[in-house]
Amino acid sequence: MFFMSKSQQINVSKSSVSKIAILALTIIFAAGLFVVGFDQGHIFSLVYGEQAFTDLYIHELTHDMRHAAGFPCH
Ligand SMILES: [Zn+2]
Repeated sequence: MFFMSKSQQINVSKSSVSKIAILALTIIFAAGLFVVGFDQGHIFSLVYGEQAFTDLYIHELTHDMRHAAGFPCH
């Protein structure tokens, strides 16, 4: 009898990042960019209402970083 053993190795390199991860990171990045660069009380206004636009807590918190990064502020 003649046995022919044949071993075959298949290397599949899958280094692509999943689409859902890219989507999630894009949303997180956009939200962070909005908080740091553009929020003028909009986020807290969802909870506090109009008062948030006069308090500007996130604006005051990120003010120095906002200027350092070159976002328009005042
Ligand atoms: Zn400013």
